[in-house]
Amino acid sequence: MEAALKAETTILSGKPIAERVLSTVRQETADLIAKTGVQPGIAVVIAGTDPASQLYVRSKGKRAIECGFKSVEHKLDETVSEEELMALLHTLNADPSIHGILVQLPLPSHINEARIIQEIDPAKDVDGFHLINVGKLTTGMTETAAIPCTPAGCMILIEEVIGKDLSGKSAVVIGRSNIVGKPMASLLLQANATVTIAHSRTKDLPSVCRQADILVAAVGRPEMVKANWIKPGAIVIDVGINRVANPPGSEKPHRIVGDVDFEDCKDVASAITPVPGGVGVMTIALLMANTLKAAKIAAGK
Ligand code: NDP
Repeated sequence: MEAALKAETTILSGKPIAERVLSTVRQETADLIAKTGVQPGIAVVIAGTDPASQLYVRSKGKRAIECGFKSVEHKLDETVSEEELMALLHTLNADPSIHGILVQLPLPSHINEARIIQEIDPAKDVDGFHLINVGKLTTGMTETAAIPCTPAGCMILIEEVIGKDLSGKSAVVIGRSNIVGKPMASLLLQANATVTIAHSRTKDLPSVCRQADILVAAVGRPEMVKANWIKPGAIVIDVGINRVANPPGSEKPHRIVGDVDFEDCKDVASAITPVPGGVGVMTIALLMANTLKAAKIAAGK
């Protein structure tokens, strides 16, 4: 007897979906300006010279301009003091032309990141890291909350495959960071999934993952998740961004891989995000959507 053919795996590319989000943001921004005169404004604050952070900040600024926003960048010296950084945030909090403030992480090691994030006006905290926004998310007050951009982007990718209601689905999130793992679990729970959060102390991680209809990996370990961790037909969302060395003699010295071994897993999953080109591109689109939402709320819309 012939073996049943497995349905094609969907490669969940973030690019067209992010473009759709951005196109809505552009349209709604034009409408907001036309109706209220309010132009969404975003301020990105960066301290130090980390090349990856500089690149992220540049691309955020570029996207903001494309969306029709006002975009300002504050580049601070590596040696900036916590007081100076706080003073800048207080100025931006009071500036009515700025609706979104983003402090690029990581900050130099002498600065207490947690304290700095709490200095941002929660209404302008477009990263969704302020305690007020964390509280709103976990209590379900999502209408006025800023939802962290990466998990929000993951939810749109999941929705693309199985819709908004995850009733009856089991979801496993590997990683419990405040930036990705925990808000991701909250969003899945709100969408009615039955959620497990796994982390470095979880026993027998592969068998925990094999229970998942939806598996989200946000770990920071290159290609850790293998095919035998995946329930056949599961949706696999790979948040990881890891730079690994290429073999000697390769054209480029490094490449970017996710937390999931894509080649190994792609035939077991029903849908899987690539890295790069999956979750990463969604994150920036959701940042723009969060800034527009903050501007609309400020404009009373
Ligand atoms: P963190 O380092 O803050 O958290 C990593 C989590 O993974 C922790 O909860 C840790 O567990 C868990 N972990 C580490 N090792 C293991 C292991 N062997 N088994 C199981 N769990 C493990 O990372 P982030 O959440 O900030 O980021 C995760 C990944 O996502 C990174 O690769 C990052 O670059 C990427 N990222 C991508 C974004 C995008 O836009 N695509 C945005 C943000 C992050 P414990 O808590 O027990 O230590």
